[in-house]
Amino acid sequence: MENIEKGNLLTTGKAKSLYESNNPDFLVMHYRDDTSAFDGKKIESLDGKGTINNKFNGFIMEYLESEGIATHFVELINETDSLVKRLDMAPVECVVRNVAAGSICKRLGLEEGIDLNPPTFEFFYKDDDLGDPMINEYHIKSFGWATEEQVEQMQVKTFEVNTALKKLFSNSGMILVDYKLEFGDYKGELLLGDEFTPDGCRVWDVETREKLDKDRFRQGLGDVVESYQIMAKRLGVI
Ligand code: ADP
Ligand code: UDP
Repeated sequence: MENIEKGNLLTTGKAKSLYESNNPDFLVMHYRDDTSAFDGKKIESLDGKGTINNKFNGFIMEYLESEGIATHFVELINETDSLVKRLDMAPVECVVRNVAAGSICKRLGLEEGIDLNPPTFEFFYKDDDLGDPMINEYHIKSFGWATEEQVEQMQVKTFEVNTALKKLFSNSGMILVDYKLEFGDYKGELLLGDEFTPDGCRVWDVETREKLDKDRFRQGLGDVVESYQIMAKRLGVI
């Protein structure tokens, strides 16, 4: 895309900032080094995280497009910025889990590491003040957060992403444990939005089961950005 100019700041999230561009259909997504966990209660700036996440996301989004999954990603602009289609976001998070970890273990009293076969799906309502509560598809429809068709599509697309990415990670010696996706409407079409980066998924080494994702930050394991880089190198992102 030629002659894209970064315009006014539109929103500042916990890890990314969105800017308008000179084209009303496109936004500039800026990946910051800010890292947060526990609904924003633990915050740190990690040198180089914005750069690695921007590249990681671009690689995954292009891979998903090649697998037939439509996304908002247009192109990388520079080290920390990407051009994306401007979406009307559904305020929900779609989570698929192949292996039990994180909140499902607490909620259901499970041991971390149990295989979930078939993989399971959860919706969460995006609201930090409420701690992103788990919801079901009836809540989404009753509160008008998305239509019935969009709810159906979010589930189908999130599982399509699972098929594509489980294979990609496993071919590089990694297990895709779980991940979170967000979707939004672009001129009547539901597109995968937001990001797919080590901030929003869990990935373990297949042999050692070492954690390579944001759990390193959540659990104070150290080498957070270094682990994101290891994941990226194995996939061929960098
Ligand atoms: P959060 O505070 O939600 O963790 P981030 O720092 O990830 O947020 O900020 C990104 C924000 O931009 C989120 O609110 C997300 O829903 C929104 N968003 C992601 N992709 C798009 C898009 N293509 N168009 C409009 N908004 C988007
Ligand atoms: N996740 C996310 N943003 C959120 C909540 C979860 O990206 O606001 C991701 C998280 O990184 C993990 C998956 O979604 O890969 C499932 O998260 P979980 O419900 O276990 O919550 P957590 O205990 O990680 O907060």
